[in-house]
Amino acid sequence: MDMCRDRVRGNIDKLEELGSHIQALKDKIFAEVPYDTEIHRKGVAIQEVIAHTEPDEISCTTPNKIRNKGCGTHKIPIGPREKAIKAAKKPRRKCNYCGKQVRTHDKRNCPLKKGEAN
Ligand SMILES: [Zn+2]
Repeated sequence: MDMCRDRVRGNIDKLEELGSHIQALKDKIFAEVPYDTEIHRKGVAIQEVIAHTEPDEISCTTPNKIRNKGCGTHKIPIGPREKAIKAAKKPRRKCNYCGKQVRTHDKRNCPLKKGEAN
């Protein structure tokens, strides 16, 4: 028990020593650097930095497309090249209305049929 008490007391003594050291250091710094002048100088310096770095106009633009990786709802954006390849892979169908081998329409939505209807 006595040993424990001695140790705690030793720690408290150390803490007090540290506290007094910090206080002494503070006093030393404050004595060397006047408080108000330092703050004023800092403020001016910050103002100068802001004035110099503030851009006249914002030069960066927002990205057109944002795609988060790993999100299932987003797919790779398809460009015109990819679209053409996809269309070429699509099998041709015979339109029973105009009799042409086409990919874009069938009998039901044949452009000739539409033209006739109008
Ligand atoms: Zn057709």
